[in-house]
Amino acid sequence: MFIFDAHLDLSMNALEWNRDLTWSVDEIRKSETGMTDKPDRGKNTVSLKAMRKGKVGICVATQIARYVKKSSNLPGWNSPQQAWAQTQGQLAWYKEMEKIGEMTPITNLEQLNRHLELWKHPKPNLPIGYILSLEGADSIVSLDHLEKAYENGLRAIGPAHYGKGTYAHGTDSVGGIGKKGKDLLKKIRELSLILDATHLCDISFWETMQVYEGPVWASHNNCRKFVDHNRQYSDEQIKELISREAVIGIALDAWMMVPNWVRGKSTPESMGVTLKQMIDNIDHICQLAGNSFHVGIGTDLDGAFGKEQSPSDLDTIVDLQKIPQMLSDKGFNPQDINNIMHQNFISFLKRVWKN
Ligand SMILES: [Zn+2]
Repeated sequence: MFIFDAHLDLSMNALEWNRDLTWSVDEIRKSETGMTDKPDRGKNTVSLKAMRKGKVGICVATQIARYVKKSSNLPGWNSPQQAWAQTQGQLAWYKEMEKIGEMTPITNLEQLNRHLELWKHPKPNLPIGYILSLEGADSIVSLDHLEKAYENGLRAIGPAHYGKGTYAHGTDSVGGIGKKGKDLLKKIRELSLILDATHLCDISFWETMQVYEGPVWASHNNCRKFVDHNRQYSDEQIKELISREAVIGIALDAWMMVPNWVRGKSTPESMGVTLKQMIDNIDHICQLAGNSFHVGIGTDLDGAFGKEQSPSDLDTIVDLQKIPQMLSDKGFNPQDINNIMHQNFISFLKRVWKN
């Protein structure tokens, strides 16, 4: 079945992990044998080949670069200019993937329709379609930079990531969006970008909902019902997003799937993390909505974690193909399963881009 994955940090893997994503997952794993600079070395699950094999023919692919102020102990760049430059390197990587036919940009309705048509008759070596998104807006030095980003193909943006950002408070921080955040939202609206509500802390989330009226999705966000953490959505937040015709992508980072995960200590096996928890998150959102229109897949696979922090029944992204059967076993009908695996995000884009 065709899959839309709403969150993959592909260019980050290419440039910060030095992974050539045109290689197979195994080739990348082998190339990292003995490396210890990052906890997920040799445990990657994503490559463009694997995406093709797993029929993940379309994704939201990120640019990501955090700017950290001197008082912060989060990792990141020391100036917004450096962060911007990093995102431009990431953009250059996507452009190179386009040139060799590995990826193709999807920035409008025509490109979307053409790409979906292409994938109706899967052949080897079809390009992976990608919608360019910015995870965390700290690299946006000024609103002129956002205009430039739009011209370069950016179509979605999340104002925050971790900590106190320039435009909003993100995961594990507490605070609102301020004037800068409001100005950013205005510009997002003006450019008809999609707002990604993922990573906003509760206060920033609700302030954003008060002032922003444009299209919103949450590319990779699970439910607080299962893991009680500020990174997860409360039922009230999910209902708010549903009322705005949003789609929420369910992520596969183990700590967001089971409670009490201890990074670097817990293992997927010891904690019983499997794709089942993804099904539970999907089901919960469908129960709150009363339908299957507001949830999709937003795995975040290889988002600075690998197999050591992913469901034990997933070796590579190809295993996403196990989800349709699991949804069917849970009682979802074929149309629901289509909606969840790809159609909801596609319909969202068609709705937003029709004007
Ligand atoms: Zn994220």
